[in-house]
Amino acid sequence: MVQYPVIGIAYGCRYYMPPLKQLLSFTLLPHHHPHPHQLSFSSCFHLPKNLNRLLTGNSLFSRMERYWAGNGINKNKAMVEHLEHYGVIKSKKVAEVMETIDRALFVPDGTPPYVDSPMAIGYNATISAPHMHATCLQLLEENLQPGMHALDVGSGTGYLTACFALMVGPQGRAVGVEHIPELLTSSIKNIEKSAAAALLKEGSLSVHVGDGREGWPVFAPYDAIHVGAAAPEIPQPLIDQLKPGGRMVIPVGNIFQDLKVVEKNLDGSVSVRSETSVRYVPLTSRDAQLRGY
Ligand code: SAH
Repeated sequence: MVQYPVIGIAYGCRYYMPPLKQLLSFTLLPHHHPHPHQLSFSSCFHLPKNLNRLLTGNSLFSRMERYWAGNGINKNKAMVEHLEHYGVIKSKKVAEVMETIDRALFVPDGTPPYVDSPMAIGYNATISAPHMHATCLQLLEENLQPGMHALDVGSGTGYLTACFALMVGPQGRAVGVEHIPELLTSSIKNIEKSAAAALLKEGSLSVHVGDGREGWPVFAPYDAIHVGAAAPEIPQPLIDQLKPGGRMVIPVGNIFQDLKVVEKNLDGSVSVRSETSVRYVPLTSRDAQLRGY
């Protein structure tokens, strides 16, 4: 019998998401779906909420996590292969880029880098889960061709900005905007250790302190915009800075959030669709984010 992974919500940033994919792939039957070949674990599986709670942190789960951690899943390449195996990574290009940018260089010391979960990076922020990074790279792939311009709003650790930079190459431009200066400083150190270091040095990759809700007009218009934090609504400056033919991926909502795919058509009109349910930290002011931190 074919067995598929199971997931409820695709986790970007905020809450701990245990690697239930592995655990449940051989404990539960596949969720019914008319097109099994198109299954992606970020959008097609629905784990009953109570079961999710029941399994999170219980002893079986802990044992399974140790099992996976001890069997090579804690390697960047293995993580990428795992995401390919479950159909989250669909293209060779995205796999190559995620293999080239080692996630371990972007997580704080002592944090397991390859577990498919968001991880705290300080300042009430998190690095998104690998499956969310992969999902967003897949959604934006066509708009991350060599020479194109990409904007990463809420660039945090710099992981995705570095991936964008490799995809658009030295003739393109990858721009990160982050409103916590300390995170920006550490993102530069992370990128400097990574395969994107040369692009940062020569300037096709840059990261800036700023309010990402305003975008980064200097290098606009953008073929691709990624927003790594959930906005109550899509900020108009980001729509304005999207090139005709461009695509933006942005989580929208408060408690219930959807990952929206925004396309600017060649005539300038804009269409929006929902890709999947997600959980991200809010796209907000610096003060609001640091409240209580
Ligand atoms: N995509 C990044 C970080 C995701 S967490 C990664 O995976 O590493 C969301 C990030 O958005 C945090 O770093 C947070 O500080 C930042 N953020 C939230 N509101 C913002 C705003 N208005 N402008 C810029 N950055 C913002």
